[in-house]
Amino acid sequence: MSDVPKTHPRYLSLSLRDQIVKGVEIGITSVHGLIAHGRGEAFDYLIGEKTHAFATHAIQAASVMLKLAINPVISVNGNVAALVPDGLVELSELLKAPLEVNIFHTEDGREQRIYEHLLDNGALDVLMPTKNAELDYIDSNRRYVNPNGILKADVVFVPLEDGDRCEALRKMGKQVITIDLNPLSRTAKQASITIVDNVVRALPILCRELRSITSESVHGDVITEYDNEKVLQDALHHISRGANG
Ligand code: ATP
Repeated sequence: MSDVPKTHPRYLSLSLRDQIVKGVEIGITSVHGLIAHGRGEAFDYLIGEKTHAFATHAIQAASVMLKLAINPVISVNGNVAALVPDGLVELSELLKAPLEVNIFHTEDGREQRIYEHLLDNGALDVLMPTKNAELDYIDSNRRYVNPNGILKADVVFVPLEDGDRCEALRKMGKQVITIDLNPLSRTAKQASITIVDNVVRALPILCRELRSITSESVHGDVITEYDNEKVLQDALHHISRGANG
């Protein structure tokens, strides 16, 4: 980062801002993504910029669901492509699952640039949306998907999702795993599993978790017992305790 010293108390947060701004400059992140990032920052501030038990619990359930999935897919937007390209590539390799570009604002060839950015970061399997396959229950551009990816997926991992599409995916019978710092967002409430944490912290933990489990050691009970509403309540309690304490 240009002129902020590493000793600055907000160095990490400021360096993430730089990454998002760079994403806009190289044309992979939408300017609207800056606003989404700001909302995330505010919630990260409220949870103390740490990974909490409510997040690690969700990460454990997510790793099991992904391990047991038949056709898992990782949906990528411009913010996550800018913040965690390496983590996305690692997750794709661990799951042998494709990355699929799916964005709301498709200005100026941004989808293609995200595609190339993922390949530049070592991705081997990146799918693009097509006009041949559409999600039901959604009108925005995000309805266009790949027939070999999100359309046929049983589990969609989609960090920083938008509520409309999360709802559409759920109505289509798919499981949705999201990472969202806002436990009040429509996405957080509608997803099967919501990891309330910053994607830059949560994704490496998810990858570590996946490396530690095998198909033999994995138990579906973890998913049956998982309660997403409780996880969101725990996150909200944490925030309100902080605000009152
Ligand atoms: P919804 O439609 O689900 O209610 P929204 O309209 O609030 O969502 P969007 O702008 O579609 O939100 O997506 C941004 C979401 O991503 C916000 O909830 C924000 O808190 C979250 N977010 C932003 N940056 C990060 C990050 N680095 N890690 C995790 N979550 C983030």
